[in-house]
Amino acid sequence: MIKYVCKHCGQYLGEINPENVSEEQLGLHTLTPRERKSIITYDINGDLIAKVVCEYCQEALEKNPELNLISNPLQ
Ligand SMILES: [Zn+2]
Repeated sequence: MIKYVCKHCGQYLGEINPENVSEEQLGLHTLTPRERKSIITYDINGDLIAKVVCEYCQEALEKNPELNLISNPLQ
């Protein structure tokens, strides 16, 4: 399973079965290896955790772009 979690607030957004969905459908193929590494991690069960941005945080970031600088100092 690939679990989606918001990288900013930690909200659990759901999960998908990668056997039913290709990387193209997930949009993962557009990521550079460095981006994949920063977005995708594994939990103790060996499940993939994809760190994305939830709608709430996306909206907050659009209103306050400086928040993104604080949480992602390397970007
Ligand atoms: Zn969030």
